[in-house]
Amino acid sequence: SLWSYPLQVDHSYARLPDVLFQPWQASPVANPHWLAFNQLLAAELALPENEGQTEQGLQQFAGNAMPSWAKPLVQAYAGHQFGQYNPQLGDGRALLLAEVMAQDSKRYDVQLKGAGPTPFSRGGDGRSAIGPVIREYLVSEAMQVLGVPTTRALAAVATGQKVYRDEPVPGAVLTRVASSHIRIGTFQYIAALGNPDYVRQFTDYVIDRHYPDCRQQENPYLAFLGQVVTKQATLIAHWMRLGFIHGVMNTDNTSICGETIDYGPCAFIDQYQADKVFSSIDRRGRYAYNNQPPIALWNLARLAECLLPLIDANEKVAVELATETLQQFQPQYEAQWLSQMAAKIGIAEPDPADKALLDDYLHLLEQQQVDFTLGFRYLSDELRTETDSKARELFAHSDAFSEWRERWLTRLAQQPLSHSDIAAQMDGVNPLLIPRNHLIAKAIEQAQDHSDLRFFQRLQQAWQTPFANTSEADLIAPPKPEEVVHRTFCG
Ligand code: AMP
Ligand code: MG
Ligand code: MG
Repeated sequence: SLWSYPLQVDHSYARLPDVLFQPWQASPVANPHWLAFNQLLAAELALPENEGQTEQGLQQFAGNAMPSWAKPLVQAYAGHQFGQYNPQLGDGRALLLAEVMAQDSKRYDVQLKGAGPTPFSRGGDGRSAIGPVIREYLVSEAMQVLGVPTTRALAAVATGQKVYRDEPVPGAVLTRVASSHIRIGTFQYIAALGNPDYVRQFTDYVIDRHYPDCRQQENPYLAFLGQVVTKQATLIAHWMRLGFIHGVMNTDNTSICGETIDYGPCAFIDQYQADKVFSSIDRRGRYAYNNQPPIALWNLARLAECLLPLIDANEKVAVELATETLQQFQPQYEAQWLSQMAAKIGIAEPDPADKALLDDYLHLLEQQQVDFTLGFRYLSDELRTETDSKARELFAHSDAFSEWRERWLTRLAQQPLSHSDIAAQMDGVNPLLIPRNHLIAKAIEQAQDHSDLRFFQRLQQAWQTPFANTSEADLIAPPKPEEVVHRTFCG
């Protein structure tokens, strides 16, 4: 049997009510070859690190050979897509292999994405194109290093088969690792079945798996809702501090454990614009950059609706309690945003007045069409040099910048820290390198059209140390006008 070394696995999801999943198998592919294998993550999961070099590993991550420890299944879920409820979604192109107990004693789902049609595929082909696989691999691993809760990428394998999007393109399979793949949409699915026992059993499972302290609370289900609210408020603040736009914040793409999940038309902002949208299908800007916090709250309200019968037998009481809990989202988000954003301008313990300082800086970036990432990263330069700072050069109208800079330096003077210490702290939270869209596009183009993985590999490497000073000027620079990616697409 394959993968017969000691490996701790479990299949707890398969012990849940069987309405939640269906046992399923991958469909074989013609001619798999490696795109990437994540040795560090393999080590964290206690998988053999050389799996990325072996024929056996290749066949497994292509879906051609099931490891002996896998018990593959597809998960059912529902969800609101762009505000419209869809009662029947589910893993249309994903296959859960197993839950692996990692070195950190935590449980992780290992899932193939793009391994063929499933009962939930409906119109779709169950496959992934190479482009979205490369994008998810790069962006999810970069997010991890940038300190954002996220699913991970363990392997990427090209299938040797075409998939049909607008044109035939090479297919690929991504192996995704997540604390779980349970979504708000999974709760919507089980709640819609109308069996309160199912909802309770499922919620107890999720609490035990992700939020075990809730058990000790007076009202565990309300406490659970509260913890998911906190996780989402924190997650969205992380996205905002990096200029990250998820692009498809449907309830089925909202992970219950607060990880960034389902990297589709996601993108990082280059020139700062508060209402920026990249996704070609987000025509009304529902999932625009600055709309992400209210959308997260809207999604949490959909979760709360599912939990009402568990929160209190009296519906009116349940609604009151849930509403109070949801109302904690905004203050928690604002506090997270303030502390994460203030750190970017060197303020360790922000007070409420610092919000205006930050808002004014963002406004300056927007007015003067400054790159979001460099606008923060190069600010530390102001603390190191009197003249020729790289920050000032970003602003076409430097008077407005100088005015803001004076206010900022006055605020920093209230801290008992030297400018060089503050500058070092800022560089530890403001990345120099982010997964810029035009660089991802270039890696995809070279892999797809020329079977050349070198640029993809270079990005994987470089984005492992996003805060370090590097001389790789082409990875630092914002896109030239002709390189700008204006629209991104789903898989
Ligand atoms: P997503 O927009 O990727 O979150 O997907 C929304 C729904 O469509 C989920 O139920 C997916 O499983 C399904 N889906 C997306 N792409 C495909 C595909 N190529 N084949 C089958 N189902 C898909
Ligand atoms: Mg079933
Ligand atoms: Mg999805």
